[in-house]
Amino acid sequence: MKARYKIKGMMCSFCTQTITKAALKVPGVQRASVNLSHEEALIEFDEQRVTSPQIRDAIADMGYRVWDAKEYATAVEADPGISERFSQLPRLLVSAYVAAIVIITMPTMFFGRLAGWLPPRNPAMDAVLLVVDTAMIFGVGWPILRMAFLAVRRGILNQHVLLVAGALGGWTASILALLIPAVPSFGGLGAMLIFAHVLGGYFRARVQARASQAVQLILDLEPVSARRVHPDGREEPVTPDQLQVGDRVLVRPGEKVPVDGLILEGQAALDESFVTGESMPVDKGPQETVIGGSLNTNGRLVVQVSKPLEESFLRQVANYVEESKAMKPPIVLLADKALAYYVPGVMIIAAAAFVAWLAAIPLNLPRSGLLTATLAGLSVLVIGYPCALGLATPLALMRGTGLGAERGVLFRGGDSFERLRQVDVVVMDKTGTLTRGKPRVTDVTPIDPSLDSTELLRLAAAAESGSEHPLAQAVVQAATSAGTTVAPPDDFEAFPGRGVRARTAGRTLLVGNRGFLTDRVVAIDSTVQQTLETLEHGGKTAILVADESSRRVLGIVALADTPRPEARDAIADLKRLGLTPVMLTGDNRRTALAVARQLGIDDVLAELLPNEKTDELRNLQVQGKVVCFVGDGVNDAPALAQADVGIAMGGGTDAAKESADVVVVGNNLGSVVAAFDVGPKTYQKIRQNLLLAFAYNGVGIPVAALGFLHPLLAVAAMVLSSLSIMLNSVAIKLRPPTVARPGSPATRTPTIGPRSQPVAETVNPA
Ligand code: ADP
Ligand code: MG
Repeated sequence: MKARYKIKGMMCSFCTQTITKAALKVPGVQRASVNLSHEEALIEFDEQRVTSPQIRDAIADMGYRVWDAKEYATAVEADPGISERFSQLPRLLVSAYVAAIVIITMPTMFFGRLAGWLPPRNPAMDAVLLVVDTAMIFGVGWPILRMAFLAVRRGILNQHVLLVAGALGGWTASILALLIPAVPSFGGLGAMLIFAHVLGGYFRARVQARASQAVQLILDLEPVSARRVHPDGREEPVTPDQLQVGDRVLVRPGEKVPVDGLILEGQAALDESFVTGESMPVDKGPQETVIGGSLNTNGRLVVQVSKPLEESFLRQVANYVEESKAMKPPIVLLADKALAYYVPGVMIIAAAAFVAWLAAIPLNLPRSGLLTATLAGLSVLVIGYPCALGLATPLALMRGTGLGAERGVLFRGGDSFERLRQVDVVVMDKTGTLTRGKPRVTDVTPIDPSLDSTELLRLAAAAESGSEHPLAQAVVQAATSAGTTVAPPDDFEAFPGRGVRARTAGRTLLVGNRGFLTDRVVAIDSTVQQTLETLEHGGKTAILVADESSRRVLGIVALADTPRPEARDAIADLKRLGLTPVMLTGDNRRTALAVARQLGIDDVLAELLPNEKTDELRNLQVQGKVVCFVGDGVNDAPALAQADVGIAMGGGTDAAKESADVVVVGNNLGSVVAAFDVGPKTYQKIRQNLLLAFAYNGVGIPVAALGFLHPLLAVAAMVLSSLSIMLNSVAIKLRPPTVARPGSPATRTPTIGPRSQPVAETVNPA
């Protein structure tokens, strides 16, 4: 069984490790994954051996506030102050104030003594600083003390233990110094340490707030109420989560569709811009699907619920962002592993330095003495405090995912950040990705003299009505709008990437592409061939309708699909980034080339069956290319999985999104370009931050162990390193979105912002 918990009070990567360890120590817990940026833990356990509240208590026992993820929403509702109370700001202010006093007095004393205008010992000053330290450690630092104690009790050594060891070490020395003149005073150290710690937590909270805002914006699209219609016509107000599959809901003009469903009655123009990126509302009628969150601008709809709220498009999108595993690129996993040995390592080095300097006293080395021993030991503890290390990856990741979400890019797999950087070739599916995926019938050409075009369209539509394929739907749509009633076929079989075979009105029809028909030995004469070529040169997709028993072509139906308006710009941008765009399609080569030419794509892989698409990607990979695939359809799922990076268009099918590493929410190709911008830059920041942090700790610890670093300078260095990592993370600069069209989401920032215009403005008054 899996349970999700909301956790407050985490500071950095060390907290996630502490919680993971604590959870795994509970008998019956099988797997635990803790996400810092969303303050969540996902825990798998054996319900025979342990209950969910027991796990919650075990985490709470480490000093964190924990809720069952489901209860959290109610908890916040009852007490909206919950999250604020955990914000670090008030504590930050207090400690900044005290730290300021210490920062001013300490160097004065330090250098004053060196210069000789202060006596070497100043017990009064030391006493004042001791009071400040005591107040800081046991006041502001109380929660940290408690957490350190709770961790030690469970045998977990984490950053809190290190911090408390440093602070209490300095504090003890300062007390002893008042009594024993030989002991050096480290007054002010404790206060500074606590300040540095709280500062780190505050940075993290700042960046995090901005990252989760993006998710909140998505969830804000979700309507809060729905109107259920009972079979007897009675209407009942409910919340969307109460709706069940099969329920009917009424959606009036100006209201949002509560969940994903199917229109049963009514016609309306729906604003689906958050999914499709189309700023124009789309007209929809009976038997068409609607997405929860889309705005009904003008009609009255009765919608049948097709998915429970939890599985709705919006929730899925939010889940992608929240999935814990998504946040751990391999480099972070590696860093996490190193961190596990880090704290014990630092404590051993600190103890060794202290003992070694004590042992060295009889050797009469320069600088040897109790002062140097204490100084070295404490400095190692302080400089070893891994605040920067713990913030290095989370800050960069939070910033990167937040920026991505603002541009409509959701990163699912953690390694996609790194992989995107290595990509050479971007293979894009034609239908639905480069084009709108909404083909329209443009030409109906009967070949058989006994048929007129209406009759031909009727036959084609009857055969296609069993198929989900966009081409099939377009044919049915064309027949319906021509006034024909489309009868379902008596027998039906689909051949993916080829066509359909169906029995209707007593004859068996084959509807599909040339290869499909020639395989079934239907003769294609030169007239048919000529017509096909003309249509295909014009970028149209031609499908043939044939009678299986007579093996004769009855006619040709041609369809055209318009390229997405931003496609040309996006392709140009990808090229500018040094990537090679390739179009991939099951469609005819001539059609594909015509479309590719329009878009500025030079490489085309056409006439591929769905399974051949993955083969083509593999071929590219064998040639040593790192391949990104962008697609949307069900049959794109294998290709998305085969590619080194799979990018799914958000308006596409669930299967596609499941297999993808990156999901583009607004269906805007500009977001694909943005992914290539955000991903590599985020990865670069992670590396830089880790390097900065390791350099600080890696250089600092030996220097401190050798007794060359005063603990207070160590604290100052620690603050600077956290600050530099924070600034470095925030400094991710994206290219301005060049892919823009009037009114498109790419020109608005953020892409997935709530459409919160007043209803009166969006309802069509006519
Ligand atoms: P794409 O790669 O563009 O998504 P598909 O692999 O789905 O295309 O289909 C490739 C080709 O197979 C289409 O261009 C069409 O010629 C033919 N085809 C597939 N399904 C059907 C169908 N239901 N009716 C007619 N033709 C079809
Ligand atoms: Mg497709």
